[in-house]
Amino acid sequence: MCFICLHSPYLVASLVSELRSFLLQDLTSALTKKITLKTPLISSPMDTVTESSMAIAMALMGGIGIIHHNCTPEFQANEVRKVKRFEQGFITDPLVLSPRHTVGDVFEAKTRHGFSGIPVTETGKMGSKLVGIVTSRDIDFLSEKDHSRPLVEAMTKRDELVVAPAGVTLKEANDILQRSKKGKLPIVNDSDELVAIIARTDLKKNRDYPLASKDSRKQLLCGAAIGTREDDKYRLDLLMQAGVDVVVLDSSQGNSVYQVNMINYIKQKYSELQVVGGNVVTAAQAKNLIDAGVDALRVGMGCGSICITQEVMACGRPQGTSVYKVAEYARRFGVPVIADGGIQTVGHVVKALSLGASTVMMGSLLAATTEAPGEYFFSDGVRLKKYRGMGSLDAMEKSTSSQKRYFSEGDKVKVAQGVSGSVQDKGSIHKFIPYLIAGIQHGCQDIGAKSLSVLRSMMYSGELKFEKRTMSAQVEGGVHGLHSYEKRLY
Ligand code: GDP
Ligand code: GDP
Ligand code: 5GP
Repeated sequence: MCFICLHSPYLVASLVSELRSFLLQDLTSALTKKITLKTPLISSPMDTVTESSMAIAMALMGGIGIIHHNCTPEFQANEVRKVKRFEQGFITDPLVLSPRHTVGDVFEAKTRHGFSGIPVTETGKMGSKLVGIVTSRDIDFLSEKDHSRPLVEAMTKRDELVVAPAGVTLKEANDILQRSKKGKLPIVNDSDELVAIIARTDLKKNRDYPLASKDSRKQLLCGAAIGTREDDKYRLDLLMQAGVDVVVLDSSQGNSVYQVNMINYIKQKYSELQVVGGNVVTAAQAKNLIDAGVDALRVGMGCGSICITQEVMACGRPQGTSVYKVAEYARRFGVPVIADGGIQTVGHVVKALSLGASTVMMGSLLAATTEAPGEYFFSDGVRLKKYRGMGSLDAMEKSTSSQKRYFSEGDKVKVAQGVSGSVQDKGSIHKFIPYLIAGIQHGCQDIGAKSLSVLRSMMYSGELKFEKRTMSAQVEGGVHGLHSYEKRLY
């Protein structure tokens, strides 16, 4: 049998004979049974890759970020909350103050949450009578000594406010906001009680990011990783309260009774929550998790850039083969596959999608972007950020959740399954993801696939083939024969 890895000598070759005439490829693809993304890209739950900034940027670009769990449950849930609160349609649980709160409270809210447009109700709670609104313009010029003044003196009063009635559609509400030129639109019921607000900023964000991944409330989608221990149930509860859309059961070998038990537990307690199981690399492993009810599978073992699992544990599988084998099996049950690990170039994304993956998960490719956690530092004049495996000793020393992924409680001697290193500065995700999207689209165009679902069906029908390149073909396929060159990708 022949095993393909993404870095292998295989190239996708299309046998399409008709002339191609389309330009814009549809990259819409399923993340899970119920969630569809417009961009098939996911940032990995690693502590040097995904916290709220990365997850917000990924969701705005049409992908999704999975917040790592090498931190306290409270920290993780708060990162999810920041993503869910970033942009919304109707904000149904906004921060509300009472007329007795002070100007200082508004400054404090601004520091803590980043916004200062706050509706004021009689009791300071939602569902109580609207009496005014306070925004940055009401307090901008107030000095330190005004901080103790009550809001009733600073706010814009109810009779001057433009409001919309409950039941208004998002479109009508947006029209009112545009016409009124105000920053916030409070929504009130027949008794003039506050039921929601809409922020003008969200209109603008909506316009700038047409691909953004959103839920039915128009909040950005966000995922989070958890383990399979008893205490992960508490973590799960906090994540649910924060509004998480999908949880990823983070395990390097997902085919375990613990994972099956956890899937059963989640499906019973939170039946609507989408659950990604894994990691798996064979159809037999996939079967157990599909039977248990997972909504997607994460595929890859030992293929990550920071990973030494294949070297140390002698376990794993070449990623191309894993993706093909699992996807070919899982599609019979409508379970999408995430190709996780080993993606170094946009060409690898195209290969993974051509082999049956619906989405790809990336660590190193997104590390060292502006949105990745951590500070930049210089080494030999090169600007870098740290990137480390979650099974590296470095990551495991930080918290216990990484240890749990790679060790059982009784393990006395730690055996690292990953390394810790650094990656060169890549700039912002807002520039990098559009490059990846355009690269995938060009790949699909050359292959002759209008969309990712067409790409997959071309592969399953045999229209799409993988051809092996000889050593000399690989040399020919790379840059060659130049004295020197500069490789700028976008
Ligand atoms: P402000 O003018 O300082 O209030 O801030 P903006 O209106 O420019 O931005 C507010 C952003 O925060 C919007 O994207 C809102 O969706 C978001 N947001 C999330 N939760 C809340 C909340 O409770 N109140 C307000 N005002 N905004 C919120
Ligand atoms: P993996 O090493 O990436 O497969 O991570 P797992 O979390 O699946 O397993 C790590 C170790 O912890 C393995 O030895 C598991 O058998 C063990 N383990 C996983 N979940 C539980 C659990 O809920 N309770 C106990 N006692 N052990 C667990
Ligand atoms: P990359 O995109 O950098 O090639 O791979 C990222 C993936 O590697 C992650 O999504 C995760 O599945 C896997 N991974 C992260 N940390 C470790 C580790 O320490 N050991 C192993 N074996 N895999 C890791």
